[in-house]
Amino acid sequence: MKPTIVNNVETICHVKHILEMGPEEYAKMGTPGDGGTRTLCVSGDVQRPGFYEIPCGGVTLGELINDVCGGLKPGRSLKAVIPGGSSAKVLRAGEVFKIKSKGSDGQMVENDVPLLDLTMDASTLQAAGTMVGSGGVMIMDDSRDMVWALNNLNQFYAHESCGQCTPCREGSLWMSKVTTRILDEGARQDDAKNLKNIADNIAGRTICAFGEACSWPTQSFLAKFPDEFDKRVV
Ligand code: SF4
Repeated sequence: MKPTIVNNVETICHVKHILEMGPEEYAKMGTPGDGGTRTLCVSGDVQRPGFYEIPCGGVTLGELINDVCGGLKPGRSLKAVIPGGSSAKVLRAGEVFKIKSKGSDGQMVENDVPLLDLTMDASTLQAAGTMVGSGGVMIMDDSRDMVWALNNLNQFYAHESCGQCTPCREGSLWMSKVTTRILDEGARQDDAKNLKNIADNIAGRTICAFGEACSWPTQSFLAKFPDEFDKRVV
């Protein structure tokens, strides 16, 4: 006799605004097709990590880091950003993306957009090969070891897999075991290739989206930071 509702806190937060303002006014705060606000949860190597409710597309990644979160820690430089929760594909500092947008004549044009100039909205981050996802923005500076970071994520996903699908149950555990061994003993020549093979054989082969969620970190860390895996080969 104690009914329970499980809901996303962000959704409940949006409902309050929508009821107060009306849906049209609320939607106007965001971008066309991505209206309203997002609550971005910024963690990692910034001076002021925290929850920030911002109109969808209201800031670029650089503005979020520097203006909203007070910038990186003193003396540090940016290394990587996971823009939408731990499953979102990682982006590497210095990357430039081809992003299409409407020009002044209404025609679509393709621009080169550096990482820090990416607008924090769904369509831009999707065009950059990742996603706004849950809004969990993880900032990593040059003190971070990307193999350690991937292992941290892999251990989480191996623990969280419900075990119903073999690719997810076994694959998430294998990825976690391989990255743990790399940290403990150094990498074998074919570890990166095997990790990619495992991840590629989970994504798209499971009954829920957790399969993709646990594969994307390994796929993207290997693609964006191959040097960090190569230098651990013993
Ligand atoms: S993909 Fe989903 S349903 Fe399948 S084992 Fe993983 S968590 Fe369970």
